[in-house]
Amino acid sequence: MMYTDTRDHAAHVSFKTAVMNGMNAQTGGLYVPAEYPKLSSSFLRQVPEPSFRSVAFETARLYCGTEISGADLQAIIADAYPFSPQVVPADQISYILELFHGPTCAFKDFGARFMARVMAHFNKDEDTPLHILVATSGDTGSAVGSAFHNVAGLDVTILYPEGKISPLQEKQLSTFTGNVRALKINGTFDDCQKLVKTAFTDADLRAKFRLSSANSINIARLLPQSFYYIFASLVVKNRIPRDSKIENPSIIMIVPSGNFGNLTSGLIAQKMGAPIAGFVAATNANHTIPDWITTGTYTPRPSVKTLSNAMDVGAPSNYERIADMYTLDEVRRLFAAYWLDDEGTLKAIQSCYRDTGYILDPHGAVGWQAWNDIRRGGLQEKFPCTAEGAQTPGLAPNIPDWAAAAAEKTAVGIVLETAHPAKFGETVYRAINREPAMPDRLEKVMRLPDRAIPLAADYAVFKDWLVSNLA
Ligand SMILES: *Cc1c(COP(=O)(O)O)cnc(C)c1O
Repeated sequence: MMYTDTRDHAAHVSFKTAVMNGMNAQTGGLYVPAEYPKLSSSFLRQVPEPSFRSVAFETARLYCGTEISGADLQAIIADAYPFSPQVVPADQISYILELFHGPTCAFKDFGARFMARVMAHFNKDEDTPLHILVATSGDTGSAVGSAFHNVAGLDVTILYPEGKISPLQEKQLSTFTGNVRALKINGTFDDCQKLVKTAFTDADLRAKFRLSSANSINIARLLPQSFYYIFASLVVKNRIPRDSKIENPSIIMIVPSGNFGNLTSGLIAQKMGAPIAGFVAATNANHTIPDWITTGTYTPRPSVKTLSNAMDVGAPSNYERIADMYTLDEVRRLFAAYWLDDEGTLKAIQSCYRDTGYILDPHGAVGWQAWNDIRRGGLQEKFPCTAEGAQTPGLAPNIPDWAAAAAEKTAVGIVLETAHPAKFGETVYRAINREPAMPDRLEKVMRLPDRAIPLAADYAVFKDWLVSNLA
């Protein structure tokens, strides 16, 4: 299996090169599979559906080719996924796909844990550790720190801006011992990012250490996210005859999105044969992608702060992959696009709780509201929008191919719940006057001692620290 890149389709690299390089440094392009292998129809038709781990194995096998043996890949998957996604029915035609059963209680565990083990696999014949440097504004740091913790041959240094991330996020990334540590930088997220970028281009440092990044553009984080789309679509396809009387339902995936890595993974799942009829790109006030779908022009912007802060992205990096996979016209036929403001997000948490008893986090709530507007006939109404895009929350005006199914109530929605509501307890409390129960693994991390090392936002200081402290 070969990989090419979004800016140079003549490029052909191995899975190992794509994973270890992260992106193509020559072109600045992102790696994408050169082709999308198909899962066998006998696998897709299995009743009952295969387990999450067998979906993961059968899917990953097609992308690793001969570069990772079957036995090694089984071991990687067993070690990465001691937990599973859960499909929870919310009503007759809606399901919630819970992606928060991993150690950090957010969907990024699926991608980060697979990537860590694949990197360790490709690094196993080296005699020095691979040093991962990550700058984080919160969520990525905890997923990466936890995913790489105790993985042999890998060593992780996380940089975060002191005082600028939530107390829970800070605990989730600063309490590790051993091969993962956190530096709290007296500065902003941009300062952290600059320190890491400067380190990567510092020839002197690179001569001393093998450096790598673990950011969200790595193909090894996207591919494993397709596992839960395939799994959930098969689970729902098999249980619809029991839950409702719909024949041949159109399964729609509703994806709360920021950088659009999660949604891109859904596109990969569909290309491999998962029974998915369409997608809803649901964003908060950072609605660059809905505006692109509305106006045909992609205009990245500075991000704005919202309650669903892991989606506060004004220049989504995976736009480049989506535009590489599909024309704008195809995107308009495949996606509904939607955005919601903070007031709507609080109301969505409230109405979902009132109508179904389910407590959503603010990210999942954006998706839930998108699905509710669609099932109420929203795709057939016209929302006000201008040449700059939609100025008020709602659906983009394009009519996807599956809009008729939604109107005829033969569409079934799977809303991706990307984080556990307890991670956003204050917002949930504002909406429903009730705190969600804290999972044990979050409670435990809150009690651990903080081990972050304070450092000035100064490259010479940072480099000095690395040289004296990394092995
Ligand atoms: C990262 C994140 C998102 C956005 O996912 P993208 O792949 O960047 O679109 C949504 N919800 C939560 C809770 C996240 O942590």
